[in-house]
Amino acid sequence: MDLITKAIALKTTDYGESDKFILLYSLDHGKISVHAKGIRKAKAKLKFAGDTFCFGNYELAQTGDRYMLKTCEQLESFYTLREDIVCYYSACAIAECIANYTEEGQSDPVLFVETLRALEQLVLGTNPLTVVLRYLLGFVKSQGFALDFKRCAECGELNKKMFLDFAKGGILCDSHRTLDSIAVTPRVISACNLLEDMPFDKLKTVTFSNELLKDALGDVGQYIAHSFSQNKSLAELLHLA
Ligand SMILES: [Zn+2]
Repeated sequence: MDLITKAIALKTTDYGESDKFILLYSLDHGKISVHAKGIRKAKAKLKFAGDTFCFGNYELAQTGDRYMLKTCEQLESFYTLREDIVCYYSACAIAECIANYTEEGQSDPVLFVETLRALEQLVLGTNPLTVVLRYLLGFVKSQGFALDFKRCAECGELNKKMFLDFAKGGILCDSHRTLDSIAVTPRVISACNLLEDMPFDKLKTVTFSNELLKDALGDVGQYIAHSFSQNKSLAELLHLA
């Protein structure tokens, strides 16, 4: 049976002499692992389809739960993401969320579009740290772990001292937090408040210092590590930026 779907190549692994396994994030079927035969041969016509971040119409042959790459029409290569190391690790941090924290075969059209929009903004030169922060806030929300930066999750208060609580899993005031929490600065709170629902194409209109963005990414990164697992690309990005 054949399956045609729009998809983004999140991760690729070399296999055998000239094959690859491509982890696709597809619009219609979520994550799918695809065997691409002969794709690493010098003259392979579909070489591009096995490049990380390739976005295209992928045509796959399905046998049971196995998928083979038949053909691909490229819609966008996102090639320039590989020309800047900060952009590259930003894109990797985004891909790692889907690759490591979502289930195979579960489609989420909204998250798919957000992933695509985030990669587009990286290519367009929007501050990569702003893009990643916006993406992560949307991602945790899509997975049912939304953070509300507007008020304490228990009493509804917002004061100068707020905390990201890992035991209770939210933003809490000093009276309601547990010991398993970190202080979040008012600047991080207001940056996250502003960004969380902002459309990706508006991100270029906001300017935050990299220092503030790194603080916010560090906090949200810790929350992600507690809720899912450590995002290694994000750690690398914070180290580089
Ligand atoms: Zn409270």
